[in-house]
Parts: sequence; structure tokens; C-alpha cells
Amino acid sequence: MHPLIPANEKYRLEALDDYNILDTLPEQEYDEITKIASYICNTPISLISLVDGNRQFFKSARGLDTSETSRDVSFCAHAINKPEEIMVIPDSRLDDRFADNPFVTGEPHVIFYAGIPLVNIQGYALGTLCVIDNKPGNLSSIQIDILKSLGNQVVKLFELRKANNSLMASRKALESYSEQMKSFAYMASHDLKEPARMVHEFVMLLQKAYGEKLDDKARKYMAFAADGSKRMTVLIDELLTYSTADSLHRTVEKVNINKLINEIINFNEGDIQQTGAVISFDNMPEIEGVRTSLEIIFRNLIANALKYQLPGVKAVVHIGCIDKGKHWEFSVSDNGIGIDKQYYEQIFQLFKRLHNKKEYPGTGLGLATCKRIVEQQQGEIWVESAEGKGSTFYFTILKSTTE
Ligand code: ADP
Repeated sequence: MHPLIPANEKYRLEALDDYNILDTLPEQEYDEITKIASYICNTPISLISLVDGNRQFFKSARGLDTSETSRDVSFCAHAINKPEEIMVIPDSRLDDRFADNPFVTGEPHVIFYAGIPLVNIQGYALGTLCVIDNKPGNLSSIQIDILKSLGNQVVKLFELRKANNSLMASRKALESYSEQMKSFAYMASHDLKEPARMVHEFVMLLQKAYGEKLDDKARKYMAFAADGSKRMTVLIDELLTYSTADSLHRTVEKVNINKLINEIINFNEGDIQQTGAVISFDNMPEIEGVRTSLEIIFRNLIANALKYQLPGVKAVVHIGCIDKGKHWEFSVSDNGIGIDKQYYEQIFQLFKRLHNKKEYPGTGLGLATCKRIVEQQQGEIWVESAEGKGSTFYFTILKSTTE
């Protein structure tokens, strides 16, 4: 007799599809369950069978050399019609439904059958965990109990699989989204760089050549335009640095950090003299590293240490380095405004700023760029700080950087 089709068949098949398990290869976790089922019930055959539209697929088949059979001759397709019951057939030759079944009359001679429906959390019977013998048999209540528990474990594995699949899918989508964002940021900043610089240069030229001839109002507007175009070029430059951070020229070379820091200090000399800032640093090592990366990180951290000060306070900045065995730990400390603990992570996010542009100019890209570079080279970057008491930014660089 052909098995009946459950009333909820359409939804049951959709639910089964959601697990993405049909036609997958055998897996140890499932094989171990059929192995235990066989031992406990003393049967040569045990199966995890999933009842598909026209067939039953075996996720695990112990003692049987096939991965699927037609649904018409499937015992399990009968069992799923009563999801809350175990179906026990002590001798199929004596059962009208199965007596003429080719698996009873011929190989593998399914004489004894017991199948526990695998019911998922939505209540759909997806298939069974069953045990089979080629001679009559039966199960004790303890054996039934254990078979039920094993069935529950199979369903839990299915659910775990589904959760895992959806996690992987979200990760993939996120990765592709992030890739798209990166290439968008790159394209936008790369293509905007030239026109923005041009606007800035011509506004400056206009200001220089015609500034005197303009009235106060026009001069004020010109100053706004100059300021805006300058900020735009800075933003575009920083965006470009951020979006190319992981494709930076990655040649590892010997980098003299003392020299690098001196170059950055020289670059900031104007600001330092104007504000009376004091910068000191430990005797720095010569390290194996990517010069451009190190320069971007130190440049950003030192610039921030000088910038985030209360008006009128002279910045005192110290750059340190500790040999931590497998990596170098660098630090940049300041006596500035500090950062509340709740923002320790957030400040490394793209465009996250704790102040408006009038208080402190900036783009919110510097620390995000540092983080991206450091993490790409298997390092870490973090901050320790207290509001009003200054901040120390730390970052690590692996000693043997691999390409
Ligand atoms: P930007 O300086 O361009 O705003 P960053 O990514 O370098 O962007 O920094 C993000 C935010 O972190 C800053 O806007 C500021 O609020 C905070 N910050 C960074 N460095 C310091 C520092 N040394 N002291 C206090 N706050 C800081």
C-alpha cells in the first residue's frame, strides 16, 4: 500500500528544504546516532531518513548500501503520518500495508521496523530515525525511550545546521556588502580627488588675486568657500587612505621608528610651535614592518594627541614602546580631554566623532583607518583613558610580519 501524503505536505516539504540537507554527504554526527540506535535496539540496520516529494533520502544509512529509495515503498513515509507516535512493525509480512513491499519480499528484507518521526520545532515530520531487522522483532519501553531521545538529538542537529547556514549566509552577504562599500568609497574618493583639489586651488587663487577688490560680504563668502573646499579635499584624501588601507604597498622592510617619529614631528612643527606642545618618545627600535602603514598610524595618533586638548592647554605627548616578545606594543599618551569609557570601541568606527567640527575639526576616519591597518596585520589597537585626564592609545605590531 502506498503511503498517504500528509495534509500539510506543501509546508512540510518547504520546511525540509530550509535545512538544505537533502543530497548532502554523510556526516559523523548523524552516523554516530544511527550507530547508537543500532546497538541499543540490536538491529543490523538504522537510518536517518528524510521524506522528500518522491523519495526518501538517507542522511545516515547504517547497514544499508544506498542513499535513497522511492517514496512509494518507504516505511518512513507511513511513519510521518503520525508525527507524535513511534511506528513499530514487529513482522511486516503479517501487515497488509507492507506484506507485498519489494523491500520485504526482497533485499534487504525489512521484516522488523521501528521508526520515530523527526518532528521539527514547527511541528513538521521531516522523516524518521528508524531501526530495521531482517527477522521479526520488537522494542522494550527503554529502547523506545532511548530511540526517542536520539530522534530529538537528530532534530537538534538539523536546527543547528539551519542556524549555521543562515549565519554563513548573513556573513557572506555582509562581506559582499562591505566589499561593495569599500569599492564605492574607493571609486568615489578617487574620482572626486582631482575636481575637489581643482576647486580648492581656484578658490585660493581667486581669494589671492581678487580678494582685495571684493567687499566684506563677498570676502566672507569666499572664506567659507575656501574653508569648505579645504575640508572636502581633506575628507577625500582620508577616505582614499581608508579605502586603500588593505591594498597598501605591503612590502615589509626595516623601519627606523625614531626616524619616522621625527619626520612626523617635523611635519607638525608649525602647530607644535604655535601651541607650545611638548612631544617626547622612548628610544624606539628599528622594526620589520610596512612603512606606509606605520606612518599612517603614528601620524593619526600623534595628530589626535595634539588636537584633542582644552583651549589654552599645552599638549604633552609621549610615545612609548615595549618589547612584548612576539610583538611590539606602541603607545601614544596625551594630557588631553580624554574619552569616556563607553566610547572606547565606538571611536574606532567609521565617521564616529565625539565632538562637532567647530570644537575640533576632523573627519572621523583616522582611527577607523588605523584599526583597519593594524588588524589586517594581525595586531590590535585600543585606548585607555579617563575624561579630563588624557588618553593613551596602544597598538601592536607582530615581529615577524608575513606578506
Ligand atoms: P577625527 O579626529 O578626524 O575626528 P578619529 O577617527 O581620529 O577622527 O577620531 C575619532 C574620535 O575619537 C574623535 O572625533 C575624538 O572624539 C576621539 N579621539 C580620538 N583621539 C582622541 C584623543 N587623543 N583624545 C580624545 N579624544 C580622541
